[in-house]
Amino acid sequence: MIVVSGCLLGVCCRYDGLSKPENEIIKLARLRHLLPVCPEQLGGLPTPRPPAFISGGDGFDVLEGKARVLTVEEAKDVTSYFLRGAMECKRIVEIFGVKRAILKSRSPSCGVILQTGVAAAALILSGVQVSEAG
Ligand code: SF4
Repeated sequence: MIVVSGCLLGVCCRYDGLSKPENEIIKLARLRHLLPVCPEQLGGLPTPRPPAFISGGDGFDVLEGKARVLTVEEAKDVTSYFLRGAMECKRIVEIFGVKRAILKSRSPSCGVILQTGVAAAALILSGVQVSEAG
């Protein structure tokens, strides 16, 4: 079983109420058991919601309390929602014994390469092999 960012499968869970379907991920859903998650929704944020970014570090720093997640326009602190979403994703991978995740690039929750998001960092620290798409 592989955890995937829900928006990569076409679920309309993005901040703007849209999705970001990736053909390769949709094809993979026919071959493997995929478990879609959206950390921001799991953290209690509404959809649509204001876009947010990590200020002062990356997802690992947010988990350690050294950086915050702020909304882009109003600089509202939404860190607690992102932390809750990351912990819920961690709980899901533990329940299902998931060892691999494919997460959406360039997201303050799911991003991996340019800046590790909060949920991605939590999964990496849990020993999940994380890659990104989209
Ligand atoms: S990138 Fe992650 S947090 Fe953002 S909409 Fe997709 S699944 Fe949800």
